Amino acid sequence: MPKIHTKYIFVTGGVVSSLGKGLTAASLGALLEERGLKVMIQKFDPYLNVDPGTMSPFQHGEVYVLNDGAETDLDLGHYERFTSGKLTKLNNLTSGQVYEKVLQKERRGDYLGATVQVIPHITNEIKERIYKVADEEVDVVITELGGTIGDIEGLPFLEAIRQFALEQDPHDVAFIHCTLLPYLKAAGELKTKPSQQSVAKLREIGIQPHILVCRTEKSITYEMRQKLSLFCNVPVKAVIEECDVETSIYELPLALKAEKVDDLIVEQLNLKTKDTDMKTWIDVVRRLKAPSHKVEIGVVGKYIELQDAYKSVYESITHAGIANDCSVRVVRIDAEDLENEGTQSLASLDGILIPGGFGDRGIEGKISAAKYARENNIPYFGLCLGMQIAVIEYARNVALIEGANSAEFDPNTPDPVINIMEEQKELTTKGGNMRLGAYSCKLSEDSFSFHAYEKESILERHRHRYEFNNAYRDILTEKGLRIAGTNPEKDLVEIIEIPDHPWFVAVQFHPEFQSKPHKAHPLFANFIAATLKYKK
Ligand code: GLN
Repeated sequence: MPKIHTKYIFVTGGVVSSLGKGLTAASLGALLEERGLKVMIQKFDPYLNVDPGTMSPFQHGEVYVLNDGAETDLDLGHYERFTSGKLTKLNNLTSGQVYEKVLQKERRGDYLGATVQVIPHITNEIKERIYKVADEEVDVVITELGGTIGDIEGLPFLEAIRQFALEQDPHDVAFIHCTLLPYLKAAGELKTKPSQQSVAKLREIGIQPHILVCRTEKSITYEMRQKLSLFCNVPVKAVIEECDVETSIYELPLALKAEKVDDLIVEQLNLKTKDTDMKTWIDVVRRLKAPSHKVEIGVVGKYIELQDAYKSVYESITHAGIANDCSVRVVRIDAEDLENEGTQSLASLDGILIPGGFGDRGIEGKISAAKYARENNIPYFGLCLGMQIAVIEYARNVALIEGANSAEFDPNTPDPVINIMEEQKELTTKGGNMRLGAYSCKLSEDSFSFHAYEKESILERHRHRYEFNNAYRDILTEKGLRIAGTNPEKDLVEIIEIPDHPWFVAVQFHPEFQSKPHKAHPLFANFIAATLKYKK
């Protein structure tokens, strides 16, 4: 096969963080895929952690996991939800990784006595990563740069992409800069100055954006576009309004299409493509905006007040709503509140979901939520920790193994129904002793899960240290627990169910990493379908 002539788009951000740059990059990817191009998106993160695996969700939101086990920034979740490109550990690069690699080379003597410096050694390593993801048959690589223009850590990355553009034909590279137009209530106007200064800073480094994407609460006038054009040195038609979306992030590809961003890219990069009718996205948004049904589900967790800690879980719930023509109201319940105030807040819910988590805070509250769901026939969906919780609850209250617990919460428990595997024990460092990435799972035919997937063999992503303890398999199944899925290679329990219940499914893996707006994950879709069916 001839190698495709790959083009490159760089997305930078200015003025403030949390601009939704990741969503903009993902939506851009969606638009270009709609036009028939093969897109690959990657993220550069300037922090020094080697990966976000050891970072608290309080600091950095959810850790997103890829098939190959890479623990990545949550923006990669957006990339996977919006595009079909298969991502690997190559798609998320941090300064930590860059420095680690350069220092290893230096120790090996690879630099042959040279003084090792940010330019060219660090920047070369960064550039190499851009070429690496373009290896296959990729038409367009989109590289999103984390952080904000002006951050010290971001400088080597900006320098690297400047050099990268210099090495390419001018029509092979497009720079997109995302900024904020703050609205000053007292003045009654949107302000352009921070954007002007942010672009000036970029130009100082040697990067002239081709497209300016302006986040704004209010629509921008033509005069304002002219002003931004003049001061930022960008054509008027390349000043793009990105207004806050009304209902959902899935409106963004359509909003950018309305601003003709794809036409601008195609023009700048000299690409030959078909146009698109955006049917998939129009359909997603139409279903989101006018659902016929409504359910309310409780998510019982530890990081409930944080918007980003369970990002993929919330997105997957939205996708399942789309699949069921149903709006899903998510009630966020702090597990510790259940410990202090009891379970009455669960009474009005149509379904209960317990997501993944680490550490023992709120565990007893989560166990009481699983018990409540089991006893009151409320559809229950447990994800990773949510599965371990369901096993402990069943062991304690149905199999009457009083002291049942996970060795994570009580290392001296007499009955570790959830335990660490021998091979994991040997790995002592905190980063890197987990079962990570995709593992196969064989489903038993007569189960809620088989009914959902409609196939026997599935592949799902993991991120955990502890496992269902096979020593308790017989006693728990004798007491009615169903083992609905196991990993054939290691004989590990992957899914448990309670057969005598409307819908009680708990999985050791993270299905939320494989759901898309137009293709909801089968377990999420079936969970929401069950909540609808058994709605009070
Ligand atoms: N803390 C549990 C474990 O390490 C569950 C992890 C999770 O939910 N991702 O096994």
